[in-house]
Amino acid sequence: MKTTVQYDDIREFEFKPGTTLTTYLQLTQDDVKSYFLSGLSLVDCDCPACLSDERSEAFSKFGLKYQECSNCKTLYVSPRPDEKAIDEYYRKSNAREFWNQHLLTETEAKRREKLFKPRVQWIIETIEEYFPSAQRFSSINSIHPPFLQELIENEFFKEIRIVTPRVDLSHVSYEKTGVQVVEDSIGSLSDKADAVTLFEVIDRLSDVDAFVGALERVLVTGGLCFLTTISISGFDLQVLWDKSNSIFPPDRMNVLSTEGLMTLFERHGFECIELSTPGLLDVQIVANAYKENASIEIPRFVRYLIDQRDSDTLQAFQEFLQMNRLSSFTRAVFQKK
Ligand SMILES: [Zn+2]
Repeated sequence: MKTTVQYDDIREFEFKPGTTLTTYLQLTQDDVKSYFLSGLSLVDCDCPACLSDERSEAFSKFGLKYQECSNCKTLYVSPRPDEKAIDEYYRKSNAREFWNQHLLTETEAKRREKLFKPRVQWIIETIEEYFPSAQRFSSINSIHPPFLQELIENEFFKEIRIVTPRVDLSHVSYEKTGVQVVEDSIGSLSDKADAVTLFEVIDRLSDVDAFVGALERVLVTGGLCFLTTISISGFDLQVLWDKSNSIFPPDRMNVLSTEGLMTLFERHGFECIELSTPGLLDVQIVANAYKENASIEIPRFVRYLIDQRDSDTLQAFQEFLQMNRLSSFTRAVFQKK
């Protein structure tokens, strides 16, 4: 299994909390209340990664409870809204409208160049190594128009399906042969895929186990699943815990540990061929949170590190986290056996 260290981090906007993030979080909090907490019946669930029912209550965010799995240490919301309610939220909520209007458009060109061009290259290189005959590609529940655009214009794949996008596609030109938008859920897909992407997808699913089970049926033997997510095994999430701006429902309803992620995919017949945590921002996120609020509770060692050591040491510490899969940004490739 490969471990890669390189630039690829989705959490740039969580790094320096500005008015855009503050507004987005406020809108999300209001929408969680109106979509999920007003009359809707929430469903209790076990750990979405390892299925253990042993857990302890961690904290509440926006009125929903986060549980920590006693077995694999995954952090997850329970009780939680069902898939239908979450779909509705991603189609209509004010927070998502704000995301489409501001966060996507303001940073689109930069994100395409810095994040998604390298990501498409990563996909192509991995496919050439592990499954060179792959032609049918599906992007599932995508929230990243710049990624879709880059993928379409790259012309590597003969067939591209954009399955139940959870974002407005008005900024994506996809009127091209071989590109198809499918609104059915993954569970009802009859067409097979050679490769799929799940970028920040498992984080916000209601039924993770059913979803990965459906994925197993959709992918051909040897098919590849490319995934990015944030991980509770990472430094800044462990240190900041409930104070982290990266943990909030419904966007981060499932914050799997590295062990939980492996367990989930292995249970459904996948082999992990790459798991890396190439995040760059963990130390800076903690340092910023501490700078903004010096009374925040962080471990004495971390406080000492930030107060007394220079940027070279902090950089070296971040590299240590990357090399040992202890950064909060995870990318992985799973192959169906
Ligand atoms: Zn678990």
